[in-house]
Amino acid sequence: MAFSFDNLPLEITCPKCDKQIKETVRWFKADGRKCPFCNQPFETTGFRRGMDEATKRTNEMLLNLQKSLGSLKIKIDV
Ligand SMILES: [Zn+2]
Repeated sequence: MAFSFDNLPLEITCPKCDKQIKETVRWFKADGRKCPFCNQPFETTGFRRGMDEATKRTNEMLLNLQKSLGSLKIKIDV
């Protein structure tokens, strides 16, 4: 079971123009994203590393949860 944050909606405030940008995690993970209002480029390397780490931990957590439930199957829709 692979859990992914890619389709989760995010709201980020641009550090330059203070406008709110609503996009999915997948959008922010891509290279070379810019603010649609002022073209300020976003540095997303650290964000991607954090998301990868969070995804890994979530998957481990779900696996443990599944083990603790024994034969019961869980499904989490995102
Ligand atoms: Zn901006």
